[in-house]
Amino acid sequence: MNWLTNLVRPKIQSLIGQKSETPDNLWHKCKGCGQLLYVNDIEKNLSICPN
Ligand SMILES: [Zn+2]
Repeated sequence: MNWLTNLVRPKIQSLIGQKSETPDNLWHKCKGCGQLLYVNDIEKNLSICPN
């Protein structure tokens, strides 16, 4: 751990908020079936829910 990490980490955590385990920008809740989907998987599937 260096000075840069100590400086940047609090900023990142404040951007993410309290949900550091499941950031909102990584997970998307499908409006159709209510499943929590990984955004990368959705994009690979042309933004179409696999369910
Ligand atoms: Zn769905």
